[in-house]
Amino acid sequence: MTLTTAPAFLETESEIIGRLGKSPTLLDVRGLCVDYVTEAGNIRACDDIDLTLKRGEILGVAGESASGKSTLLNALGRLQRMPAATSAGEIVFHPTDGTDPVDLAALSESELAPYRWTKISVVMQSAMASLNPVIRLGEQFTDVIRTHDPRLTEQDARDQAADLLTMVGISADRLTAFPFQLSGGMQQRALIALSLACDPDLVLMDEPTTAVDVVMQRQILDQVLAAQQRLGFAVVFVTHDLSLLLEISDRIAIMYGGKIVENGTAARLHGSAKHPYTRALRQAFPPLSEPVRRLSGIAGSPPDLLDLPPGCAFAPRCGSAMPICHQRIPELRDIPQGRSACFLSNGELSETELSEQKSAADSQDQGDHR
Ligand code: ATP
Ligand code: SF4
Repeated sequence: MTLTTAPAFLETESEIIGRLGKSPTLLDVRGLCVDYVTEAGNIRACDDIDLTLKRGEILGVAGESASGKSTLLNALGRLQRMPAATSAGEIVFHPTDGTDPVDLAALSESELAPYRWTKISVVMQSAMASLNPVIRLGEQFTDVIRTHDPRLTEQDARDQAADLLTMVGISADRLTAFPFQLSGGMQQRALIALSLACDPDLVLMDEPTTAVDVVMQRQILDQVLAAQQRLGFAVVFVTHDLSLLLEISDRIAIMYGGKIVENGTAARLHGSAKHPYTRALRQAFPPLSEPVRRLSGIAGSPPDLLDLPPGCAFAPRCGSAMPICHQRIPELRDIPQGRSACFLSNGELSETELSEQKSAADSQDQGDHR
């Protein structure tokens, strides 16, 4: 990687296709299921997940705690450990170097090694848990860089490390520091810079700004976006904060009870989210750059994955629930600019059926209020 000669702006999709003569898809996830095998039973934390990520795209994944976001991210990077196990599905990765697509879910640990750092890297929530506390930053960078490109001299690797640190707003002098000598925000930025050390195609980020204050969060996000525009990597960004994702993502997937319940372009989810859970999640977080509006929490709790309610998992908390919602699981179906798993918007019920269901829900509401 020569950062100083990297493209100033992200290539457009058609430019990428023109250069590589291939589809712009980077990751194609189909039917992914991940279970935690516990004494109490099998917990399906990711249930039949379908996702597509294009090159250079930012895909946000949002949902409350326990919706399965981290499990999904770990599965995409093949980072899950017992008791988690991928029980079904494919994670087809299309490398940008033109080599053949490969199903990451089917690779052994040794077959995965060439993909780690150089094609897929990871940024976790706690930098101190990821950085080695007893090794100076510079050495951590040069180790990673030279392990993956042994042709580089120590000085080349150090120059790249300095470039990367500067890109995230940290002076290159800090290469001589130990991680504990940096502030929390700097540690997180250093970890992001380290994740870019081998010029990956995809960076998986799990709540990378949750541990820092909002001012630092903004700075880090701006730096991630600037680096992403400059280097063109794609991102899967997991957080509970939908407002944040609406600002930085191209597309967003909303998870609830281990399933994707809505996905679509950030623009559509911003203006016309269809799923009642997505709308409730939006109301629960202050917007990052729009005027502050009244916030409201989501009544009730996320479902126990060992004891899911029959029908739509959101039904016990949904103000629009109809009788059928307590009986049948809505399918995740195509809608304009995305997909939705809600009977109100996914087209699964005919207009007549929907209006009967709404009337039945209204009658039940009126009965409850008498
Ligand atoms: P958070 O935002 O709190 O990290 P999340 O959306 O990332 O939540 P996950 O961490 O993926 O959710 O967990 C989803 C579900 O998977 C949990 O509710 C729990 O039931 C199950 N789970 C997660 N880790 C384990 C584990 N180590 N052992 C057993 N079950 C687990
Ligand atoms: Fe609410 Fe029913 Fe839609 Fe589920 S399917 S989100 S319960 S309206």
